[in-house]
Amino acid sequence: MKLKYLLSSMLLAALAFVVPFATSQKAPNFETPAWTRPFKPFQIAGNLYYVGSEDLAAYLITTPQGLILINSNLESSVPQIRESIEKLGFKFSDVKILLISHGHFDHCAGSAAIIKQTGAKYYVMGGDVSVVEACGKKEFEYSTRTDFHFPPTHVDRALHDGDTVSLGGTTLTAHLTPGHTKGTTTWTMDEVEGGRTLHVVIVGSPNVNEGYKLVANKQYPKIAEDYKKGFKVLKNLPCDIFLGAHGGYFGLDVKYPRWKNGDKNAFIDPSGYKSWIADRERAFEAALARQQTGKP
Ligand SMILES: [Zn+2]
Repeated sequence: MKLKYLLSSMLLAALAFVVPFATSQKAPNFETPAWTRPFKPFQIAGNLYYVGSEDLAAYLITTPQGLILINSNLESSVPQIRESIEKLGFKFSDVKILLISHGHFDHCAGSAAIIKQTGAKYYVMGGDVSVVEACGKKEFEYSTRTDFHFPPTHVDRALHDGDTVSLGGTTLTAHLTPGHTKGTTTWTMDEVEGGRTLHVVIVGSPNVNEGYKLVANKQYPKIAEDYKKGFKVLKNLPCDIFLGAHGGYFGLDVKYPRWKNGDKNAFIDPSGYKSWIADRERAFEAALARQQTGKP
């Protein structure tokens, strides 16, 4: 009886230690409800589909030789992404290549599970390879944020700026648009619809997160220079269909209802792309100026 009591109190003590940690792993305080709210999958154009949640975007590209998936999102997003792919009539096990927007947990924490379930190859931009392979512990800003860490994931191919990824007649191009992370990637591809070529841009992230040091950053000395390079690239990309790593970037909440009501051109928004990039560049320049003049 005494031993039983001792064992159960030891178990309780162990749980008291483990539970808060496990909870914080599952629910980083960064997370918002729109990240996990399910969203109906739909065809954006041609062989390009939306399979993400309300705000965490994931894209499926279908080809006769299998599927390409961009973004694995949170660990908890994986069953949702799988369901979305299956609802569209495709097989989750046909995912051959997994890509990401950048190495932050809200876009890549689900990668290990997806690779385990599908056998997909993982291609990641060089600057983010060590981050995703080391669970986020090598991230310049969040190395000590255990609630932002995720399962370690082996990368099969390190990408460089301008590299292409091809499968079954479809080619995507990886554009290095760094700053937000060292390997933030903006993906482009072309869709042909009704004899018209539509340039698709999936923006990786041009945002300056809270706490980012743009000046004298020991972990990322070239951060400001990299953001500037990224904006130069983004401003020069031809864009018809404007997409990104979060639904909020391109106004999914406004465009999807239009699409649902029959406007199949709802995501064609070259001017929206230009003005959003310009807005983000102004926000970056303002943050940089504030930090250079010593303001918080
Ligand atoms: Zn991010």
